[in-house]
Amino acid sequence: MSKIDIIGLIQAAQAGGYAIGGFNMHNPETTQALIRAAERANAPVFLQVGRAVVPHMGLAEAFYMTLRERDKSEAVAPIHLDHGTYDEVFEAIKLGFDSIMFDGSHLPFAENIEKTKQVVEVAHSFGIPVEAELGQIPDAADSIHWPDFYTKVEQAEEFVAKTGVDLLAISAGVMHGVTNLKPQPLAIDLVNQIREATNIPLVLHGASGVPVDELRQAISAGVHKLNADTDLRHAFRSGIEDTFSKGDRQLEEAMDEGRRRMIEATIQKMQDYGCAGKAPALT
Ligand SMILES: [Zn+2]
Repeated sequence: MSKIDIIGLIQAAQAGGYAIGGFNMHNPETTQALIRAAERANAPVFLQVGRAVVPHMGLAEAFYMTLRERDKSEAVAPIHLDHGTYDEVFEAIKLGFDSIMFDGSHLPFAENIEKTKQVVEVAHSFGIPVEAELGQIPDAADSIHWPDFYTKVEQAEEFVAKTGVDLLAISAGVMHGVTNLKPQPLAIDLVNQIREATNIPLVLHGASGVPVDELRQAISAGVHKLNADTDLRHAFRSGIEDTFSKGDRQLEEAMDEGRRRMIEATIQKMQDYGCAGKAPALT
């Protein structure tokens, strides 16, 4: 497959007023689910190697497994490192990832700028776009004091100007995972302000469980990549659990049902994000 023009994909999303999904792979069946969904919905998709799978199978194996599945398909599906550490991003560039995220959001601001800038210089020399993160995206918890987590507009402006990142993941009221509590409404004003200050496409992580009308508002405000994992994991899991609830079954039967349900759930996300039907023809 020829190299995917990821910046072109994102620019098309900006022009068309939609967002592209970033979804995590965990094993062959979940990777296949994302690719089948992209084919059926004719949508671009980021196949994400995330922070759970790396300790499970190793970065290189996760990449090669995803690549094997992707290259059997005509889907427009860049392989993306999600929440990469400083060491992982360089390994990912060597392996041949199409796109990377460096997550220095836990670092002091000046150090996040410095490290992100170094990552951008190396990645760009290989034609690889970089997503970075500013502000903290909290893990699902009972009580979150949101102002402690939100991305600050002035910091976002300085960060983007000094690092040259292509995409910025921000914290604006979503978390990783879902809670049983009433979800925090997205801070759409904040998204607007950050977009105006940075003038680059924004990313929201933890989009599972966020009402579709809020996601559409976020897209209008400048979000063009949406990461969701929990809803798709639950879809796969429900297929496994329902299969075994009927008694002992082969693992393959359970995984087949999980994969089938994850395909449906992924297509639904692509429709919600507006990227269904938007895959460009491969050149
Ligand atoms: Zn994330």
